[in-house]
Amino acid sequence: PWITRFAPSPTGALHLGNVRTAILNHLLAKQSGGKFLLRLEDTDQERSTFAAEAAILWSMSWLGLVPDEPVRHQSLRLDLYRRAVDRLMAEGRAYPCFCTDAELEQDRKDAAAKNLPPRYSGRCARMSADERAEKLNRGDAHAIRFRLPEKTEVGFTDLIKGQVSIPAGAFGDFVLLRSNGWPSYNLAVVVDDADMGVNLVLRGEDHLTNTARQILLYDALRLTAPSFAHHGLLMDADGKKLSKRSGALSIPECMEMGLEPLAVVQYLASLSGALPTKNIFASRDEMARAFNPFALGRGNAVMSLDELNALSARVFRAADLADQVRELDEFLPAGNAWHDIDPQTRRHLLASLRENAANMQELRALLPLFTEKETRFTPSALTELAASLPVLDALDHAMSEHNPDASLQKDDASAVLRRISQEAGVKGRQLYHPIRLALTGSDSGPELATLLSLLPAALIRERTQTVLN
Ligand code: GLU
Repeated sequence: PWITRFAPSPTGALHLGNVRTAILNHLLAKQSGGKFLLRLEDTDQERSTFAAEAAILWSMSWLGLVPDEPVRHQSLRLDLYRRAVDRLMAEGRAYPCFCTDAELEQDRKDAAAKNLPPRYSGRCARMSADERAEKLNRGDAHAIRFRLPEKTEVGFTDLIKGQVSIPAGAFGDFVLLRSNGWPSYNLAVVVDDADMGVNLVLRGEDHLTNTARQILLYDALRLTAPSFAHHGLLMDADGKKLSKRSGALSIPECMEMGLEPLAVVQYLASLSGALPTKNIFASRDEMARAFNPFALGRGNAVMSLDELNALSARVFRAADLADQVRELDEFLPAGNAWHDIDPQTRRHLLASLRENAANMQELRALLPLFTEKETRFTPSALTELAASLPVLDALDHAMSEHNPDASLQKDDASAVLRRISQEAGVKGRQLYHPIRLALTGSDSGPELATLLSLLPAALIRERTQTVLN
């Protein structure tokens, strides 16, 4: 069984890109009968906020990615990191670095000028023991750096990518502890993953060089390294970083758009090839059972907002009807006419309305058509209606031939519209607009034939006659 984890930094909202990592970790843990853990990497004191942390926890629970153990905070585990560093120092695997920000900046500039990667020069690694002791005694500010072993090429077997090798020189002696005593990302991750019993680290391939650093650290600390798997990143159809238009969405934005959380989970997992999109899953457990970790693709995942929206609408329409009725019961305030509709009709109404809505918000926008006792008209609507009386006469006439207690079938509704067109001698907007206005008081809403088939025939006549009289 895989013990996996998701380790966001609480410096902002979760986006589809990082949430995809969480989803894959979650499904993999569930699928293998393991555990999914959550750790907040809040060691950047300047950028970490409680607001971001709360938003992350809320997003995770909205998506149903509930961790199997209490959430860890790195900020509460500083002693663990300190102890690991003490061990490395005692064994000569780490050393204090007194370089100032200005010196490091100059090093970076020099390297860039020579077209070299920005690596630490190793200045403080070569310091004499006396000089080092003197500076330490004086209390000079310092970070602690890891002393890379001589041969630094790091090879490992990636569960997705296969054999990976990070060449020597890809990075230099890296920081373990900052001068303020807080750990670097690489140190904290290694200490925590080992301490939490994580046996598989699955994350984006942008972390490949970090993995090499971390493998060296596991080695130096004589800890068993977990297995590693790196997935491709989420991109737009042109292979570019996601933009707002191509779907760079935060989870709070997904909530606002009315996307179904189950659809977000399924969509992002399907992009990795590990979950089909043909069927709709009733629960996350069902998804986890269908999850195929061996299908996890190596390539980048191509995000399509249209596909996500379409899947979400399908999930919405396939959701449990009773649950959705209950959701509306709870959402709509007491006094809303929804509560006067009998339970059977409520289910019916919801079942037909959701075929015309992609989510609860859209569905709720359609409800007043049925629950408002009176249609209100703007002055310009009234003017238009007054000029369209022949159309409304023809509508009333056509409807008088239908059973008032039943709704029209969609085909009947189209036939009714054709008849009105002939009788009143108008078509297009002149036909549709006044009918829509008379029935809803609004310029927009479901397609007209659909609207006619959703409203009870008696209600259509009642509203038409209100205008005619
Ligand atoms: N806090 C890191 C990030 O958000 C975690 C990376 C990792 O999974 O190790 O990128």
